[in-house]
Amino acid sequence: MKPQAAEASTAEAPYYLPQGRERELFRHAYQNYLPVLIKGPTGCGKTRFVEHMAAELDRPLYTVACHDDLSAADLVGRHLIGDGGTYWSDGPLTRAVREGGICYLDEVVEARKDTTVVLHPLADDRRILPIDRTGETLRAPPGFMLVVSYNPGYQNLLKGMKTSTRQRFVGLRFGFPDPSAERDIVVRESGLAAERAELLVALANKLRRLEDHDIEEAASTRLVVHAAILIRNGFDPVAACENALVEPLTDDEEALQGLMEVVHALLGE
Ligand code: ADP
Repeated sequence: MKPQAAEASTAEAPYYLPQGRERELFRHAYQNYLPVLIKGPTGCGKTRFVEHMAAELDRPLYTVACHDDLSAADLVGRHLIGDGGTYWSDGPLTRAVREGGICYLDEVVEARKDTTVVLHPLADDRRILPIDRTGETLRAPPGFMLVVSYNPGYQNLLKGMKTSTRQRFVGLRFGFPDPSAERDIVVRESGLAAERAELLVALANKLRRLEDHDIEEAASTRLVVHAAILIRNGFDPVAACENALVEPLTDDEEALQGLMEVVHALLGE
Protein backbone atom coordinates (compact mmCIF):
# COMPACT_ATOMS: atom_id res chain seq x y z
CA MET A 1 0.00 0.00 0.00
CA LYS A 2 1.32 3.38 -0.93
CA PRO A 3 1.33 5.97 1.83
CA GLN A 4 -1.26 8.65 1.54
CA ALA A 5 -0.14 12.20 1.97
CA ALA A 6 -1.27 12.75 5.52
CA GLU A 7 -4.03 15.28 5.87
CA ALA A 8 -2.18 16.73 8.79
CA SER A 9 -3.00 20.28 9.63
CA THR A 10 -0.38 22.55 8.11
CA ALA A 11 -0.97 25.06 10.89
CA GLU A 12 2.09 23.76 12.68
CA ALA A 13 4.28 23.37 9.64
CA PRO A 14 7.17 25.83 9.70
CA TYR A 15 6.62 28.75 7.33
CA TYR A 16 7.83 28.03 3.82
CA LEU A 17 7.17 30.15 0.74
CA PRO A 18 7.29 27.92 -2.36
CA GLN A 19 9.47 28.88 -5.32
CA GLY A 20 7.67 26.68 -7.80
CA ARG A 21 6.14 23.22 -7.80
CA GLU A 22 8.53 21.75 -5.26
CA ARG A 23 5.82 20.92 -2.71
CA GLU A 24 3.80 19.02 -5.26
CA LEU A 25 6.90 17.19 -6.52
CA PHE A 26 7.89 16.25 -2.99
CA ARG A 27 4.44 14.84 -2.27
CA HIS A 28 4.46 12.76 -5.42
CA ALA A 29 7.94 11.50 -4.63
CA TYR A 30 6.89 10.61 -1.09
CA GLN A 31 3.79 8.76 -2.23
CA ASN A 32 5.80 6.75 -4.75
CA TYR A 33 8.84 5.92 -2.62
CA LEU A 34 11.21 8.07 -4.62
CA PRO A 35 14.14 9.64 -2.80
CA VAL A 36 14.73 13.35 -3.38
CA LEU A 37 17.95 15.26 -4.01
CA ILE A 38 17.90 19.02 -3.46
CA LYS A 39 20.65 21.13 -4.96
CA GLY A 40 21.18 24.76 -4.14
CA PRO A 41 23.38 27.36 -2.50
CA THR A 42 23.58 27.61 1.24
CA GLY A 43 20.81 29.57 3.00
CA CYS A 44 18.27 29.37 0.17
CA GLY A 45 15.59 27.42 2.04
CA LYS A 46 16.44 23.73 1.51
CA THR A 47 16.27 22.78 5.16
CA ARG A 48 13.19 24.91 5.79
CA PHE A 49 11.48 23.22 2.85
CA VAL A 50 12.19 19.73 4.16
CA GLU A 51 11.03 20.71 7.66
CA HIS A 52 7.85 22.12 6.16
CA MET A 53 7.15 19.02 4.08
CA ALA A 54 7.84 16.65 6.98
CA ALA A 55 5.28 18.54 9.07
CA GLU A 56 2.76 18.60 6.22
CA LEU A 57 3.15 14.87 5.65
CA ASP A 58 3.12 14.30 9.39
CA ARG A 59 6.38 12.34 9.38
CA PRO A 60 9.11 12.52 12.00
CA LEU A 61 12.21 14.20 10.56
CA TYR A 62 15.79 13.16 11.21
CA THR A 63 18.22 15.77 9.94
CA VAL A 64 21.90 14.98 9.70
CA ALA A 65 24.44 17.72 8.95
CA CYS A 66 27.06 15.75 7.06
CA HIS A 67 30.77 16.44 7.49
CA ASP A 68 33.93 14.82 6.22
CA ASP A 69 34.21 12.51 9.20
CA LEU A 70 30.64 11.23 9.04
CA SER A 71 30.70 7.48 8.49
CA ALA A 72 28.13 4.79 7.76
CA ALA A 73 28.20 3.85 11.47
CA ASP A 74 27.20 7.41 12.40
CA LEU A 75 24.10 6.97 10.25
CA VAL A 76 23.27 3.37 11.05
CA GLY A 77 24.28 3.05 14.68
CA ARG A 78 26.86 1.38 16.85
CA HIS A 79 27.37 -0.70 19.96
CA LEU A 80 27.88 1.42 23.04
CA ILE A 81 29.10 0.44 26.46
CA GLY A 82 26.67 0.94 29.33
CA ASP A 83 26.25 -0.25 32.90
CA GLY A 84 24.95 -3.63 31.86
CA GLY A 85 27.53 -4.21 29.12
CA THR A 86 27.31 -3.32 25.48
CA TYR A 87 24.07 -2.34 23.83
CA TRP A 88 23.09 -1.34 20.33
CA SER A 89 22.16 2.27 19.65
CA ASP A 90 20.36 3.16 16.41
CA GLY A 91 21.75 6.01 14.33
CA PRO A 92 19.43 8.61 12.79
CA LEU A 93 19.04 6.74 9.49
CA THR A 94 18.04 3.53 11.24
CA ARG A 95 15.60 5.41 13.46
CA ALA A 96 13.98 7.02 10.44
CA VAL A 97 13.65 3.61 8.78
CA ARG A 98 12.18 1.95 11.87
CA GLU A 99 9.70 4.79 12.47
CA GLY A 100 8.79 5.44 8.86
CA GLY A 101 10.17 8.96 8.99
CA ILE A 102 12.08 11.28 6.71
CA CYS A 103 15.86 11.17 6.88
CA TYR A 104 17.42 14.38 5.56
CA LEU A 105 21.15 14.33 4.89
CA ASP A 106 22.28 17.91 4.52
CA GLU A 107 25.48 18.43 2.47
CA VAL A 108 25.61 14.73 1.70
CA VAL A 109 28.72 15.01 -0.50
CA GLU A 110 30.73 15.86 2.61
CA ALA A 111 30.10 12.45 4.16
CA ARG A 112 32.61 9.62 3.94
CA LYS A 113 32.35 7.35 0.94
CA ASP A 114 31.35 4.31 3.01
CA THR A 115 27.96 5.95 3.56
CA THR A 116 26.97 5.18 -0.03
CA VAL A 117 26.96 1.48 0.87
CA VAL A 118 24.04 2.03 3.24
CA LEU A 119 22.30 4.69 1.14
CA HIS A 120 22.18 2.78 -2.15
CA PRO A 121 19.92 -0.12 -1.11
CA LEU A 122 17.61 2.39 0.60
CA ALA A 123 17.52 4.72 -2.37
CA ASP A 124 16.36 2.20 -4.94
CA ASP A 125 13.30 -0.02 -5.05
CA ARG A 126 14.75 -2.50 -2.56
CA ARG A 127 14.30 0.04 0.25
CA ILE A 128 16.29 -2.04 2.68
CA LEU A 129 18.84 -1.22 5.34
CA PRO A 130 21.20 -4.07 6.12
CA ILE A 131 22.79 -3.59 9.53
CA ASP A 132 25.91 -5.71 9.41
CA ARG A 133 26.77 -5.32 13.07
CA THR A 134 23.48 -6.75 14.33
CA GLY A 135 22.73 -9.03 11.39
CA GLU A 136 19.37 -7.30 10.87
CA THR A 137 17.97 -6.23 7.55
CA LEU A 138 15.29 -3.58 7.91
CA ARG A 139 12.71 -3.10 5.21
CA ALA A 140 11.66 0.54 5.06
CA PRO A 141 7.96 1.05 5.80
CA PRO A 142 5.81 3.20 3.48
CA GLY A 143 6.39 6.41 5.46
CA PHE A 144 10.16 6.29 5.11
CA MET A 145 11.75 8.78 2.74
CA LEU A 146 15.36 9.64 2.00
CA VAL A 147 16.17 13.27 1.18
CA VAL A 148 19.66 14.58 0.53
CA SER A 149 20.98 18.00 -0.33
CA TYR A 150 24.19 19.56 -1.49
CA ASN A 151 25.53 22.80 -2.78
CA PRO A 152 26.86 22.30 -6.31
CA GLY A 153 28.59 25.68 -6.55
CA TYR A 154 30.65 25.22 -3.45
CA GLN A 155 31.91 21.69 -3.93
CA ASN A 156 35.05 21.03 -5.82
CA LEU A 157 34.51 18.64 -8.69
CA LEU A 158 36.16 15.73 -6.96
CA LYS A 159 33.66 15.96 -4.16
CA GLY A 160 30.60 15.93 -6.43
CA MET A 161 28.11 13.16 -6.06
CA LYS A 162 28.82 9.88 -7.82
CA THR A 163 26.63 9.24 -10.86
CA SER A 164 25.54 5.89 -9.47
CA THR A 165 24.28 7.66 -6.37
CA ARG A 166 22.68 10.72 -7.92
CA GLN A 167 20.79 8.69 -10.50
CA ARG A 168 18.73 7.11 -7.75
CA PHE A 169 17.13 10.43 -6.81
CA VAL A 170 14.53 12.81 -8.14
CA GLY A 171 16.34 16.15 -8.37
CA LEU A 172 15.16 19.58 -7.35
CA ARG A 173 17.18 22.73 -7.93
CA PHE A 174 16.78 25.69 -5.61
CA GLY A 175 18.02 29.20 -6.21
CA PHE A 176 17.45 32.45 -4.39
CA PRO A 177 13.77 33.45 -4.45
CA ASP A 178 12.71 36.20 -6.84
CA PRO A 179 12.75 39.66 -5.25
CA SER A 180 9.09 39.90 -4.25
CA ALA A 181 9.12 36.40 -2.76
CA GLU A 182 12.35 37.11 -0.92
CA ARG A 183 10.86 40.35 0.44
CA ASP A 184 7.86 38.41 1.74
CA ILE A 185 10.15 35.85 3.38
CA VAL A 186 12.24 38.58 5.00
CA VAL A 187 9.11 40.37 6.29
CA ARG A 188 7.71 37.16 7.69
CA GLU A 189 10.97 36.00 9.27
CA SER A 190 12.09 39.32 10.74
CA GLY A 191 9.00 41.47 11.23
CA LEU A 192 10.67 44.30 9.29
CA ALA A 193 8.34 46.59 7.29
CA ALA A 194 7.86 45.61 3.64
CA GLU A 195 9.52 48.71 2.10
CA ARG A 196 12.62 48.28 4.20
CA ALA A 197 12.74 44.56 3.45
CA GLU A 198 12.44 45.38 -0.24
CA LEU A 199 15.45 47.65 -0.05
CA LEU A 200 17.48 44.96 1.70
CA VAL A 201 16.56 42.43 -0.96
CA ALA A 202 17.55 44.89 -3.70
CA LEU A 203 20.86 45.35 -1.90
CA ALA A 204 21.38 41.59 -1.60
CA ASN A 205 20.76 41.20 -5.32
CA LYS A 206 23.33 43.90 -6.09
CA LEU A 207 25.84 42.16 -3.83
CA ARG A 208 25.08 38.85 -5.55
CA ARG A 209 25.91 40.37 -8.91
CA LEU A 210 29.34 41.51 -7.71
CA GLU A 211 31.74 38.95 -9.02
CA ASP A 212 34.88 38.56 -7.03
CA HIS A 213 36.84 35.37 -6.77
CA ASP A 214 37.42 36.04 -3.08
CA ILE A 215 33.71 35.75 -2.45
CA GLU A 216 33.08 32.04 -2.41
CA GLU A 217 29.33 32.27 -2.16
CA ALA A 218 26.66 34.88 -2.74
CA ALA A 219 24.76 36.48 0.15
CA SER A 220 21.99 34.05 1.05
CA THR A 221 18.40 34.68 2.06
CA ARG A 222 19.47 33.61 5.54
CA LEU A 223 21.89 36.55 5.70
CA VAL A 224 19.25 38.99 4.47
CA VAL A 225 16.96 37.74 7.23
CA HIS A 226 19.73 38.26 9.79
CA ALA A 227 20.31 41.84 8.63
CA ALA A 228 16.57 42.49 8.77
CA ILE A 229 16.32 41.15 12.32
CA LEU A 230 19.10 43.46 13.49
CA ILE A 231 17.51 46.47 11.78
CA ARG A 232 14.06 45.68 13.13
CA ASN A 233 15.62 45.51 16.54
CA GLY A 234 16.89 49.05 16.20
CA PHE A 235 20.46 48.46 15.00
CA ASP A 236 21.91 50.91 12.50
CA PRO A 237 21.02 49.66 8.96
CA VAL A 238 24.46 50.16 7.39
CA ALA A 239 26.17 48.44 10.31
CA ALA A 240 23.56 45.67 10.23
CA CYS A 241 24.35 45.05 6.58
CA GLU A 242 28.05 45.12 7.22
CA ASN A 243 27.86 42.63 10.05
CA ALA A 244 25.13 40.35 8.77
CA LEU A 245 25.39 40.56 4.99
CA VAL A 246 28.99 41.44 4.19
CA GLU A 247 31.37 40.12 6.88
CA PRO A 248 30.16 36.51 6.64
CA LEU A 249 30.93 36.45 2.90
CA THR A 250 34.69 36.89 2.82
CA ASP A 251 37.85 37.73 4.75
CA ASP A 252 39.50 39.51 1.87
CA GLU A 253 39.93 43.24 2.57
CA GLU A 254 39.45 44.39 -0.99
CA ALA A 255 36.38 42.26 -1.50
CA LEU A 256 34.92 43.58 1.77
CA GLN A 257 35.51 47.13 0.62
CA GLY A 258 33.84 46.48 -2.71
CA LEU A 259 30.82 45.01 -0.97
CA MET A 260 30.59 47.91 1.48
CA GLU A 261 30.66 50.39 -1.39
CA VAL A 262 27.48 48.80 -2.68
CA VAL A 263 25.93 48.99 0.79
CA HIS A 264 26.77 52.68 1.14
CA ALA A 265 25.57 53.47 -2.37
CA LEU A 266 22.18 51.94 -1.67
CA LEU A 267 21.62 52.79 1.99
CA GLY A 268 23.33 56.17 1.97
CA GLU A 269 25.97 57.65 4.28
P1 ADP B 1 19.63 25.92 3.48
O1 ADP B 1 19.17 24.65 4.12
O2 ADP B 1 19.35 26.00 2.01
O3 ADP B 1 21.07 26.26 3.80
P2 ADP B 1 17.65 27.18 5.19
O4 ADP B 1 16.49 26.33 4.82
O5 ADP B 1 18.26 26.96 6.54
O6 ADP B 1 18.79 27.14 4.08
O7 ADP B 1 17.17 28.70 5.03
C1 ADP B 1 17.78 29.76 5.72
C2 ADP B 1 16.74 30.75 6.18
O8 ADP B 1 16.24 31.45 5.04
C3 ADP B 1 15.54 30.10 6.83
O9 ADP B 1 15.75 29.98 8.21
C4 ADP B 1 14.42 31.07 6.51
O10 ADP B 1 14.45 32.15 7.43
C5 ADP B 1 14.84 31.66 5.18
N1 ADP B 1 14.22 31.09 3.97
C6 ADP B 1 14.86 30.87 2.79
N2 ADP B 1 14.01 30.46 1.85
C7 ADP B 1 12.79 30.42 2.43
C8 ADP B 1 11.47 30.10 1.95
N3 ADP B 1 11.27 29.73 0.66
N4 ADP B 1 10.43 30.18 2.81
C9 ADP B 1 10.64 30.54 4.09
N5 ADP B 1 11.86 30.86 4.60
C10 ADP B 1 12.92 30.82 3.78
